[in-house]
Amino acid sequence: MATKKTNDLVILGIESTAHTFSIGVVRQKAKSDDLSKISLTKSSHEDLVDIEILANEIDVYKPEKGGIDPDICTQHHKQVKEQVLQRALEKAGIGLDKVSAIAYSHGPGLPPCLLVGSEFAKELSDKYHKPVLQINHCIAHIEIAKLFGKMKDPIALYVSGGNTQVIGFAGSRYRVFGETMDIGIGNALDSFGRAIGISFPAGPEISRLWQLGNKRRNYIELPYVVKGMDLSFSGIVSDAARRYKAGNKSDESIEDLCFSFQETTFAMLTEVTERALSHTKKNELILTGGVAAAQRLREMLSIMCKERNAKFYACPIEYAGDNGAMIAYTGLLLYKFGKNKYNTNSCSDSQNSHNTNSQQVGYDTNNSQASHDTNSCPVSQSSKNSHDRFNANWRTDDVEIGWM
Ligand code: AMP
Ligand code: MG
Repeated sequence: MATKKTNDLVILGIESTAHTFSIGVVRQKAKSDDLSKISLTKSSHEDLVDIEILANEIDVYKPEKGGIDPDICTQHHKQVKEQVLQRALEKAGIGLDKVSAIAYSHGPGLPPCLLVGSEFAKELSDKYHKPVLQINHCIAHIEIAKLFGKMKDPIALYVSGGNTQVIGFAGSRYRVFGETMDIGIGNALDSFGRAIGISFPAGPEISRLWQLGNKRRNYIELPYVVKGMDLSFSGIVSDAARRYKAGNKSDESIEDLCFSFQETTFAMLTEVTERALSHTKKNELILTGGVAAAQRLREMLSIMCKERNAKFYACPIEYAGDNGAMIAYTGLLLYKFGKNKYNTNSCSDSQNSHNTNSQQVGYDTNNSQASHDTNSCPVSQSSKNSHDRFNANWRTDDVEIGWM
């Protein structure tokens, strides 16, 4: 008896840009057995129903002391990748043969860490004859928050370890309206944390100390650096760390410093985000990235949005930090809405299956009908460059977005 073929779309996503190695599995159930009846409209919110996150397995490298050592982090990712994959598949209740495509974080990120994810994607693609989707990590943070928040065209405040950007969609791309001029807010929290004896990730402990400091409300003025829409955090880290070392503990306690550090940096973030909402006249805001877990930041943004009659949504914590589900979900968008553009290749030709040209990871409105046939292996323009496996500096606004 012939088995009934399923037209469900199942994407496996691999995340390895920095400290986190994660694999997620996302499925969209086919609405009809007849593929020709599946409507793939550009109106993503009509079409993006029945999305299920089947698995999101995460393993984070936590340095015993100091910041992330890329080499040790890479070893961590290599050691855990098979286990994380097995856990994800078990949780999802599927085998790799049922996967439609494999998505991975192509950048931005730490090169040796990125390479672990891209090589793993290539290995699985070769073994199971699956197309590969190269995903921009920052865009994945935005898309997963939009999905949960049911937002259509929001401003995104993306706050993570390495990145801090205020982003909005305009003219087929996510434009960066403002960003950090030096380190990301997460790195700023972690660096300051390190200086005051808190291990990585320092964000949660600084938030806890903020609560104690909030009772005293002894605000210490720290460098507030906003230039137009851009921000700088390195000065505040140095100044706060210097004050701690100076040991003026009676009137500048660790709680006071954590309170003042969060109040200052989160106010800076709120200021530029409000300006982006005002300039663009958009009325939705999403908060995403690992620092989205910070309650005080959520509170400040929520108050600001309330005052402007804008909707505010903070990404659930499990999906706000780096995770494979966001890569899988963005892979699903790319698979559905960018058939001729995603960088898959002849599955047998692994040399060519990773093409970094970001223009090709876009979307062509004339060719949005992607096949859900899991046996098909879409053909792409080939690249002979084996170093095209990742793009460490891939900009958010390099990518043409096809699903908005
Ligand atoms: P990501 O790079 O997106 O995974 O985010 C990691 C960053 O999130 C790290 O720098 C953490 O310190 C930060 N973080 C995690 N939890 C919190 C929290 N509750 N408050 C502030 N920052 C946090
Ligand atoms: Mg991230």
